Amino acid sequence: MDKRVATIEDYAPLIGNEAVERVQRKAMILKDFRVLHINSTFYGGGVAQLLSSLMVLLGTLGLKADWRTIHGSPDFFSVTKKIHNALQGGDINLTDRKLQIYRDTIHENTFMMHPDNEDMIVVHDPQPLLLIEFYKKHCPWIWRCHIDLSKPHPLLWQAISRTVERYDAAIFHIPEYARELRVPQLFFMPAINPFSTTNKPLSEDEIGERLARYQIPTDLPIVAQVSRFDRWKDPIGVIEAFKMARKKINATLVLLGNIAADDPEGPDVYQALLSHQEERVLILSCQDAALVNALQRKAAVIFQKSIREGFGLTVTEAMWKGTPVIGGNVGGIRHQIQDGENGFLVNSVAEAAERLVWLLEDPELRKRIGSAAKETVRSKFLLSRYAEQHLDLYGAFETEFHLRRLV
Ligand code: UDP
Repeated sequence: MDKRVATIEDYAPLIGNEAVERVQRKAMILKDFRVLHINSTFYGGGVAQLLSSLMVLLGTLGLKADWRTIHGSPDFFSVTKKIHNALQGGDINLTDRKLQIYRDTIHENTFMMHPDNEDMIVVHDPQPLLLIEFYKKHCPWIWRCHIDLSKPHPLLWQAISRTVERYDAAIFHIPEYARELRVPQLFFMPAINPFSTTNKPLSEDEIGERLARYQIPTDLPIVAQVSRFDRWKDPIGVIEAFKMARKKINATLVLLGNIAADDPEGPDVYQALLSHQEERVLILSCQDAALVNALQRKAAVIFQKSIREGFGLTVTEAMWKGTPVIGGNVGGIRHQIQDGENGFLVNSVAEAAERLVWLLEDPELRKRIGSAAKETVRSKFLLSRYAEQHLDLYGAFETEFHLRRLV
């Protein structure tokens, strides 16, 4: 068993000693700082993935980092998914009954969570947003939004922004998501943990064993998309692009997905995809981080053909493995991929098919794009940078914590 918790020192070969020491110095000042992060699921989706790594790294740095999730019925998560969709630009029709479910569930949660001794509270996404309305605020509260907010439903945003303004600051991924708000706005792009099961190095044998376990054929090049089953990820568009490209090249397409506990639409999206399954189009639903890792490493090309994407962790994960990514030209993906340099950005199925053919026909192009992709992640998208941004945030507020340390 070589399982051990990675610490900031492990990042030294990747980011240099100076950066490691800088993070350590910032953390030392915040020793025992109590920060509570609240989101809506421990499992599935990028937020859970990010928090599971961030909380551990902050803990190893000496902070008292705590992570809790809110509880809710399927009805509650059906309402919050509608809100999520509308914040990404979809339509919405929220009846008073649905709004009441949303409000009542959050209220109930406040009887199960007693954040009395925190130095800061960070609330993620719309699901737990309303919590702030039910507590007496005794420390700074930050709203952390992971959604592509470039075109939110105007009326919904208007309603939500009133609650957001009760917070002390809001964090979005990129400046394009900034809104008119009477609170400071910060921008943190997500990052990956290079030591997690999803991202750590794997031997050829480990990759082969993992793919064999799921009967994924390796006789032809693999093209894959790894994503929650969600219509915003455009899995149908990926299948169409693959079929178009197959007139010129031969390959196997794998759509690997999972269903997040707070996403009630996932099972329907998955079921609808099954009718597209054929010998060279595999649809797999499972939660296996080692399989994600193996697939992203073995694939000749990874798709993330989203039509909305706050930020695609799967894009960064594949890039870290030196695998070229074809991403939808939307949201955060535009900040992750520089078109033609370290991946491709596409606006249509036809463009996606064309880039796929280019990549599959040209191993040199795959190599050039793949190595540029890996370097982009090393320099910009590792968790050490994300943790440092959090330390800067915690340090920037005048809190009880800082006063306690003065006496
Ligand atoms: N993921 C996974 N198994 C799957 C599909 C996705 O473990 O079958 C992980 C993926 O590796 C990534 C996260 O779930 O870490 C998805 O994050 P992303 O930001 O790409 O999308 P989100 O689901 O948050 O919209």
